[in-house]
Amino acid sequence: MTETTNGPSTPTDYHRLLANYLRTHAESELYHASLLSQVCIECGLGPEDIIALHFEALDGAVAGASSRERIRAHADAQEFLLEVMIAYGVKYKEYLELRLQENLRDAEARAARDRERVLEAERIGAEKDELLGVIAHELRSPLTAARGSVDLASRRLASGEVETVPRLLGQAREALDRLSRLTGDLVEASRGELPQFEKTPVLLTEIVGQACAWAQPTAASRGITLEFIPPESDVRALGNADALLSVFGNLLSNAIRYTLPDGMVTVRLTADSRWTTVEVRDSGIGMTAEEQERIFQRFYRGPSARRVDPQGLGLGLSLVQSIVQSHGGKVEVESEPGRGSAFRVLVPNLRTE
Ligand code: ADP
Repeated sequence: MTETTNGPSTPTDYHRLLANYLRTHAESELYHASLLSQVCIECGLGPEDIIALHFEALDGAVAGASSRERIRAHADAQEFLLEVMIAYGVKYKEYLELRLQENLRDAEARAARDRERVLEAERIGAEKDELLGVIAHELRSPLTAARGSVDLASRRLASGEVETVPRLLGQAREALDRLSRLTGDLVEASRGELPQFEKTPVLLTEIVGQACAWAQPTAASRGITLEFIPPESDVRALGNADALLSVFGNLLSNAIRYTLPDGMVTVRLTADSRWTTVEVRDSGIGMTAEEQERIFQRFYRGPSARRVDPQGLGLGLSLVQSIVQSHGGKVEVESEPGRGSAFRVLVPNLRTE
């Protein structure tokens, strides 16, 4: 009866295979010995480790044997070891080549990661520089405008031409209001958390109507028709009137800035049993899907928006979103390049029952 042995799968199988070989002197065990070399390579064992393993296994196999049996076992074991080492020599070359390729791949991957890190750092640096430039520019223009109007007003006062002074001071006031809105936006944006507002029941119809009334002169000066379609009955929500005014003001200002003359902006207020929806739809430049994914990020400005209006901090929509979210609502956008955009603000209705 021949004893069948399983092939090796771990270096500790060395003990079993050597013991079998010493007992049976079967060719099959020598074949398994050659397979052992592959297992040793996969486990990262070097030639010295194999010799150590061999003598450990041999010691185990001859424990308790007579001196004569030991000498014989040593001689037979040499043959077994030789078989392992010959196969190992061949495999070891393949193994070294494999390791070399692996190391090369690792080194290439590390180099690619390093290159990416450098590029990312350069990109962040360039973005920071650009951002600082934009902020400086945005703050400087209303400041220069205010200063110019005040200087002119004081010269007119000095020369007794007082009738133009109120208009000039009004212009200075407008520029300073813009400056204070900008700095306010920057402060809000730097917080990076949802703003907290005191909320009371508010009449959304009134707030949206007011935002439209404020935007009307700008729209008219750009030849854009602004239409407000109110709901059939008044709609209320729990909210902060100033913050909501700034939400609709921002959306309307964008709709007007990013719509070419002769275009149209329509504001529609509707409500169902749960949500009130304010939709600001324009026939303007629209946005690609990629742009739509990024517009709520702070300081992001779309490429076509930059062309149409070089001024802007890219903060408006991120503020809109955080204000709406702090009202338990959400902002949706739908847009197509060259065909226009629709922004929808959804806020929960105020339950009156
Ligand atoms: P800003 O208008 O100062 O750039 P926003 O945060 O308000 O900053 O808007 C971010 C970007 O979203 C804009 O730069 C523009 O690319 C895009 N966007 C916003 N509103 C519109 C709109 N109505 N039509 C087309 N693009 C818009």
